[in-house]
Amino acid sequence: MTCRTAFIVVWFWLANSNLYVVVLAKPTDPPVATGKTLTNPLAKPSMTPQIPDGKLTQAPSKPTWSIAIHGGAGGDIDRWTAVQKQNRIHGLKAALQRGKDLLEKSMPAVDVVQAVVQILEDDPNFNAGRGAVLNSVGDVSLDASIMDGSDLSCGAVANVMTVRNPIQLARAVRDKTPHVFLCGEPADVFAKEIGLPQEPQEYFKTPEQIESWKAWQQKQAARNSTTTKSDHDTGKDRLFYLGTVGCVVRDQQGNLAAATSTGGLLGKRYGRVGDSPVIGAGTYAKNATCAISCTGVGELYIRNHIASAVSSRMEYLNESLEKATGFAIHKTLPEDSGGLIAVDRDGNIELQYNTPMMARGQARSDGLFQVGLKEWAD
Ligand code: ASP
Repeated sequence: MTCRTAFIVVWFWLANSNLYVVVLAKPTDPPVATGKTLTNPLAKPSMTPQIPDGKLTQAPSKPTWSIAIHGGAGGDIDRWTAVQKQNRIHGLKAALQRGKDLLEKSMPAVDVVQAVVQILEDDPNFNAGRGAVLNSVGDVSLDASIMDGSDLSCGAVANVMTVRNPIQLARAVRDKTPHVFLCGEPADVFAKEIGLPQEPQEYFKTPEQIESWKAWQQKQAARNSTTTKSDHDTGKDRLFYLGTVGCVVRDQQGNLAAATSTGGLLGKRYGRVGDSPVIGAGTYAKNATCAISCTGVGELYIRNHIASAVSSRMEYLNESLEKATGFAIHKTLPEDSGGLIAVDRDGNIELQYNTPMMARGQARSDGLFQVGLKEWAD
């Protein structure tokens, strides 16, 4: 072997497997940023990582797929009944299970995130699709977006009021138009043109959300507020207005995708659009870095372009997913403003929030499967 063509022969002895793996690597190869602890092949035996009972650790292998979901980082969980909590846990489990099943069947990431978000839109316990919050004039108006990290293709809709599943419409914007973003009535017209199921407003308005809206109205009246500013922007109060659903995936082919859908903030001004349909603010996916879906006070997420900022920190600063998401949620945003879910190209998952809880779930090909509100559920 000459100097130029010299290769280092590396071998790992894998405990419990009697398997020898030989890897040929050029000395100049950059380290692979896996976010996992890798065994250093050149380390002395005494430096080999040990687990407490003295066994050698297995060389970590990448999960073949990973998925995370959220159902919002707000709401007054201390006032939820046991049944309300149980319904949300049940809804998260059903959506996560569906995602797991589809990923095991090798479905592409972009199809999985759409299917999972659609389930959460149909579930009246979450603020998206059926069960969405009401706006200042008592209507439901919905926002959604989807992004495919393999080619940065994406679609988004805002302020739609008749399409049953806004995430389907966002997907159609990506697939059937040369555009990225449609909003308002013309977006609903497009949904009708392509035959997506339509619903009257009554379908979206659940008794629980009508109650919340009445309580919001009374609060507004008590405040006698005629200003255009609301308390969505400041203080603990904003927790009561939050909610959204989202899903991020790394599929078996290594592709990433993200999808987000919401009714927005309770009592939002008619016409207001939050971060959820804004690519780069509430949703982002790029195979080279990560897939992100956010939930929280949309105005703050738009101002700080939270989703794309996480991706950019990974790309330009070489930060891990954990560090980049932690920076966004705990350093960029103020306390009690929301959270996000993220998955990176190696299948690492992050679920970060700065509120008391986030309805969330995560699953991976290595057997991880859990959902929770404040704590993880059994
Ligand atoms: N981000 C959403 C919005 O501002 C609300 C939420 O996630 O709770 O519309």
